[in-house]
Amino acid sequence: MPVRERLLLILPDKEIYDYLCTGCGSSVGSRELTAGDRAVAALQRQATSRVKTRPF
Ligand SMILES: [Zn+2]
Repeated sequence: MPVRERLLLILPDKEIYDYLCTGCGSSVGSRELTAGDRAVAALQRQATSRVKTRPF
């Protein structure tokens, strides 16, 4: 089931995201993203883009 990420709340030390079903719009869950989590996610994105842009 595809979900849509919605930024719900921004706090000094974390961000809270709400996840909505793209079909019916109901909330399927939420997630708290701390500054540390965000740094890890940014590193993972960089690693992924390096893999994708590597010529084969
Ligand atoms: Zn739904």
